[in-house]
Amino acid sequence: MEGAYFDFKYDDCGNQIIDLHEGIIFDNVQHFKEILTRYSVQEGIKVKKVKNDKQMVTAVCNNSDQCTWRLHASTYGDGVTFKIKNITGVHTCVRNLKGSGASAKWIASQFKDKYKCNPEKSVEELDSALRSKFGVHAYSSKLYRARKIAMNLAAGDHEMSYCKIPRYIAAVSDDRKYIVNLKELTCQCREWQVSGIPCKHAMGCILYMRLDPVQFVDEHLTTEAYLRTYKGKIQVVPDESIWPENPYIPPLKPPIHKKKNKTFKQGPLQVNRRKEPNEPPKVHKRSIHKTSIQGL
Ligand SMILES: [Zn+2]
Ligand SMILES: [Zn+2]
Repeated sequence: MEGAYFDFKYDDCGNQIIDLHEGIIFDNVQHFKEILTRYSVQEGIKVKKVKNDKQMVTAVCNNSDQCTWRLHASTYGDGVTFKIKNITGVHTCVRNLKGSGASAKWIASQFKDKYKCNPEKSVEELDSALRSKFGVHAYSSKLYRARKIAMNLAAGDHEMSYCKIPRYIAAVSDDRKYIVNLKELTCQCREWQVSGIPCKHAMGCILYMRLDPVQFVDEHLTTEAYLRTYKGKIQVVPDESIWPENPYIPPLKPPIHKKKNKTFKQGPLQVNRRKEPNEPPKVHKRSIHKTSIQGL
């Protein structure tokens, strides 16, 4: 089967992706090894070359206890061109973010162009660019070494233009990114904290790390928590027809309540003084006058 010449693929964000499969052809063994190194950084693995010469390379995942991935490539046709003959297994090992596959020399070769544009580029900026482009965290001692090598490489080659500055700026500053903390189960978008289920940003990180997403769901949403919630009894009330009779308590009648203010009628407000209980009734002047007339 004729293979296809190696080329990068691109994700939705325009980042280069290396997809290795059987039949891919490389310029030579050096070209193949460069791509294999970059692939190991991309996948967060450390490749171990069990066979390594100009004609043949056989690589396995260094973490072979966890992982059965294996690649075999050898010269092809003209004795210089290199071709992947066989790949078996997929990575089941946990991703290593410390970038064990990325040596200081390799980091320097990836970022030497940045030092041509900006020789004063700091280690912190290099760290940020490394994480942004390759998803790799490196120890600061390695970053300092890489920076030194990159500056030397840049000093030896002044032909590179400034045209890559916009791409560099785009690589190190992306406002749309959210910070995910897998230890604290949080994402800057806050969806994870609210729902208890990893948001799409968190899922991206979890799958990228080849970890189990179920382990990152809030404990309250687990089956165990559900069972704990409902393990107590909820008493069911049966139908009235099967309620038992109680011979000791006679049937009770509902209490009678008398209505108060039954005779109250709405009328003019009382303005006279309330009389004492034994106070004689008041005699109106008009009545006296009338009596005296009658008595005459
Ligand atoms: Zn692996
Ligand atoms: Zn999020």
